[in-house]
Amino acid sequence: MKPSHIEHLGIAVTSIEEALPFFEFLTGDKCYAIEEVADQKVRTAFFKVGQTKIELLEPTCPESTIAKFIEKNGGRGGVHHVAFNVENVADALAEAKAAGLQLIDEAPRKGAENLMIAFLHPKSTKGILTELCQQPR
Ligand code: ZN
Repeated sequence: MKPSHIEHLGIAVTSIEEALPFFEFLTGDKCYAIEEVADQKVRTAFFKVGQTKIELLEPTCPESTIAKFIEKNGGRGGVHHVAFNVENVADALAEAKAAGLQLIDEAPRKGAENLMIAFLHPKSTKGILTELCQQPR
């Protein structure tokens, strides 16, 4: 698949506002964008660490997969997924499928920051929810 870099780490938080001071301290920088992704039922906040980003994910309703993740994690947030930057998500998905990996998304869809994204199932990725991202052109 040969990703160019880790695009971002997705980190679940119970509250973006509550988490901001720590991540501002950690990254030495201000959050540069807050965006709601309605179809994923999350609000996101972004930080940069070199060319890799930290994506904070706050659930916007109890049915959000992030709300369920937090619930399973004893009410705390934590690392939710790792996103790899690839040249072409559709090609990478086809490669993953051919390699026998289980896909969550059969086709790329639009994520935060206008990236095209797709998820691989943690059952076939050593327990790590894996996202593939492609930069907007
Ligand atoms: Zn992500």
